[in-house]
Amino acid sequence: MERTFIMLKPDAIQRRLTGKIITRLEERGLKIVAAKMLQITRELAMEHYQEHKNKPFFNNLIDYITSAPVLALVIEGENSIKLTRKIVGATNPQEADPGTIRGDFALHTGRNIIHASDSPKSAEREIKLFFNEDEIYDYTMPDEKIIYEPG
Ligand code: GDP
Ligand code: MG
Repeated sequence: MERTFIMLKPDAIQRRLTGKIITRLEERGLKIVAAKMLQITRELAMEHYQEHKNKPFFNNLIDYITSAPVLALVIEGENSIKLTRKIVGATNPQEADPGTIRGDFALHTGRNIIHASDSPKSAEREIKLFFNEDEIYDYTMPDEKIIYEPG
């Protein structure tokens, strides 16, 4: 089973979309193994988005992501990194397919409501940035045997 890092950004919380977004992940069969609400410091934001530090939008991105609380999640499931990127949709919500989270709930790249790790390497790095190992839970969903083909 693969773990990925998901973050509901400040606009998702402020627009009261938290339940709808989490429902989409849960209904697909994915499992929440960690969750934490926090207001990100500028230091953590800059570390999380270090790959974008030379981009023209970097300062706006740090302002946005630190502006109000976020909900950080670790999500587990088979192929969860690629799968959640698909469920989240394209970075620019105007290019995101309808049926994706960004394609249904957002309009602007700078306010695209959700983050999802883009590779195994970034998932591992981002999970470690936001969670201690003892904050991530190992449990069984009773319907795992129904959701996944055995073997
Ligand atoms: P993601 O992996 O789909 O979230 O996209 P990226 O890793 O390319 O960018 C990280 C985040 O930076 C995006 O989710 C947006 O919030 C923001 N971002 C990316 N490109 C732009 C841009 O051109 N303008 C603005 N304002 N924000 C951007
Ligand atoms: Mg990214």
